[in-house]
Amino acid sequence: MSCYSRRLRQTEPEQQNGGSGPRHVSTHSRVNGWSLPLHPFQLVAWLFYSYLAVVGFGIYVPLLPHGWKHAAYVVIGLLFVGHLVTHLVAITVDPADPSVLAKKSYSRPMPAFDRTKHKHVIQNLHCYLCEADVGPRAKHCSACNKCIADFDHHCKWLNNCVGGKNYWFFFCAVGSAVLGVLLLTMVVLYVFIQYFVNPADLRTDPQFERVTSNTTWFVFLPAAPVETTPAGILAIAILTVMLGVAPILLLGHLLVFHLYLLWKRLSTYDYMVHQRNTQSIRERKNIEEAQVTSDGTLADIVSTPRESDLPLSDRSSGLRYHDGGLISLGQPDGICTDVADTTSLA
Ligand SMILES: [Zn+2]
Ligand SMILES: [Zn+2]
Repeated sequence: MSCYSRRLRQTEPEQQNGGSGPRHVSTHSRVNGWSLPLHPFQLVAWLFYSYLAVVGFGIYVPLLPHGWKHAAYVVIGLLFVGHLVTHLVAITVDPADPSVLAKKSYSRPMPAFDRTKHKHVIQNLHCYLCEADVGPRAKHCSACNKCIADFDHHCKWLNNCVGGKNYWFFFCAVGSAVLGVLLLTMVVLYVFIQYFVNPADLRTDPQFERVTSNTTWFVFLPAAPVETTPAGILAIAILTVMLGVAPILLLGHLLVFHLYLLWKRLSTYDYMVHQRNTQSIRERKNIEEAQVTSDGTLADIVSTPRESDLPLSDRSSGLRYHDGGLISLGQPDGICTDVADTTSLA
């Protein structure tokens, strides 16, 4: 099967805004995920992390029975610290192509792409915006306005591109987030259920020995105990479990998606190009079948792929059709990836 075997030396520009007008591209390149403006998703992620850390380690882990409590502090604590470190590194790394980085001045405005002079931003491994020769797997990200080495996708949650330099930090951040939130949600669920089954199991901290009422509970044990009511403990537990389910499902989907990509040795960009081409071929087949039905002849059917069906770049030309085909996992658009926006200048 060879429809992905032809090598192209250039990328194909997309219609800007569906052809309705010029697309806004920043005049300056972004350095990394800290470059302004911050993305709202980024702020949501930090708020969510802070909420889970405070509620998990401040309220529910201290209520676990003795042995479990220490295990939870260590295991979930390591996952949370590991996530924080890999998340911050993935944001901070500048994933630009080395040759772009070598001559880059971030204070200098980037030139506008002149489509009358060049058909593609990158041609023959040269980027006309970065004015540099780039690697074969580099792509010019329209959000970052620079070429990214081993481009995977532009992540709104990191507010940074994910490329060869920070892919594993991104991957570890996703993995630690899934495991951390999953375990913490299980702890909260355990406390919630145990409150009704055997609440004495949750009252092992020495602070509970000085209170006579079984309806007195504490948060922020053991360092700064604050009295609260059972209703408070249970209400926050319900809210936390509800908030925890969404990221477990979404980030779990994203993790499975990237495990699948690693297994197939593909990037997110490769996968998206493949999906786009498959859809394009399917749509053309449908049109041709409709024509055959109306004409009653097979004569006009073209069996070879057209130029537009071919991969958009050198990198995607590395795709090979597997006998089993690529499984459609439903690329997790809303979670992390922004390939469509990113490749528009590729
Ligand atoms: Zn570039
Ligand atoms: Zn980017």
